[in-house]
Amino acid sequence: MSGGPGLPQERRLVTAVPGPESQARLARKQSLVADGVGNALPVFVAEAGGGVLVDVDGNSLIDLASGIAVTTVGNAAPAVVRRVHEQVDAFTHTCFMVTPYDGYVDVCAELADLTPGGHAKKSALFNSGAEAVENAVKIARVATGRDAVGVFDHAYHGRTNLTMAMTAKNMPYKHGFGPFAGEVYRAPLSYPFRDGLSGDEAAARAVDVLDKQVGADNLACVVIEPILGEGGFVVPAPGFLPALASWCRERGVVFIADEIQSGFCRTGDWFACDHEDVVPDLVTTAKGMAGGLPLAAVTGRAELMDSVHAGGLGGTYGGNPVACAAALGAIEEMRTHDLPARARAVGERIRGHLEKLRAEHPVVADIRGRGAMMAIELCVPGTTEPDAARAAAVNAACHRAGVVTLTCGTWGNVFRFLPPLATTDDLLDEAFAVVAEAFTATA
Ligand SMILES: *Cc1c(COP(=O)(O)O)cnc(C)c1O
Repeated sequence: MSGGPGLPQERRLVTAVPGPESQARLARKQSLVADGVGNALPVFVAEAGGGVLVDVDGNSLIDLASGIAVTTVGNAAPAVVRRVHEQVDAFTHTCFMVTPYDGYVDVCAELADLTPGGHAKKSALFNSGAEAVENAVKIARVATGRDAVGVFDHAYHGRTNLTMAMTAKNMPYKHGFGPFAGEVYRAPLSYPFRDGLSGDEAAARAVDVLDKQVGADNLACVVIEPILGEGGFVVPAPGFLPALASWCRERGVVFIADEIQSGFCRTGDWFACDHEDVVPDLVTTAKGMAGGLPLAAVTGRAELMDSVHAGGLGGTYGGNPVACAAALGAIEEMRTHDLPARARAVGERIRGHLEKLRAEHPVVADIRGRGAMMAIELCVPGTTEPDAARAAAVNAACHRAGVVTLTCGTWGNVFRFLPPLATTDDLLDEAFAVVAEAFTATA
């Protein structure tokens, strides 16, 4: 078996989804894997590549999820596979803190080059997004000598103790898992569909909370997703992020952009902050950066990054050589195929399909996103009342028809579309025809 872009790029259903082979494996999974680890779509994957996932029953599904914005370059992308093979043959681990190797430093060089801003930058590498966010906060606290962390409504930053505190949504991320880390304060976000505020008005509202309820002098950092991920792909009104960043700069608060979901070409530029020329002090990255292998980073102003004493940052596996090789392969794919441009084209194509959908189905209340990070919010027609039941019904219908869709949002009423950028226009058109049929069938 071999995946990658050589797989036939087609939707092909040979059984029900999930089929009998997947169902047999699911029973085994249920006896061995903790129930807390759920599945959006319980098909077992045998191979994947380009824009499709092939399951153990032989069904070929169109992927609109990319394993949650991870396989941006396509699953088993050629440069990722080649570099991983080379690295696995050479060595698999040393622990960078014991004996260093080039791949780690090469990834840091790419991050210094690609992340927003022309200032001197340094990076530290980790295993997961949550670990990167935790470390960004550690760095900001040491650098400022302050404790408080400002976060936003609808935020998602991970599942560890500190990042659960920073995440907004109770179910399923926080429920029963407290007590949570202290000194985390939540401010209102800019959510144009729901608040109707301009970027400046929404920033003033957020700054008022941070200034009056926390106090700038107590704030180590403000952490924000420049486009929300799990919280519903909300794009803040123009001007919101720049106003927030400049307030932070004036008050000595470290401005941290969590680009774990939005970074690495997804939004049609290398980073979502680039769209408004926002230059964060620190950036957290993970997901799309390594083509599916676990790798995360904090990148930022050299003097900030260097405020931490030797040994204060790191971890056994952080910047594992195989994961670094995968990241270098993924970045090679992004550059070679100009994936920021591809993301913009994919986004335009998806937006066209979504406009048609909204014209026919008034439950589609908002279309938003950037590049290949697009979403629709479903509400009871004529209101802003979330319609999560309809989203769940449409989602299930898409899955049965062989299209891997994902929902998100605080109320579970948002569809997010995250196709691999290695997908084809034909696959996208077919996938959105299936989505449209699912809306009609569930009307
Ligand atoms: C996924 C995500 C995280 C957490 O990353 P993990 O690798 O799952 O720990 C943090 N922030 C954002 C914005 C994310 O989308």
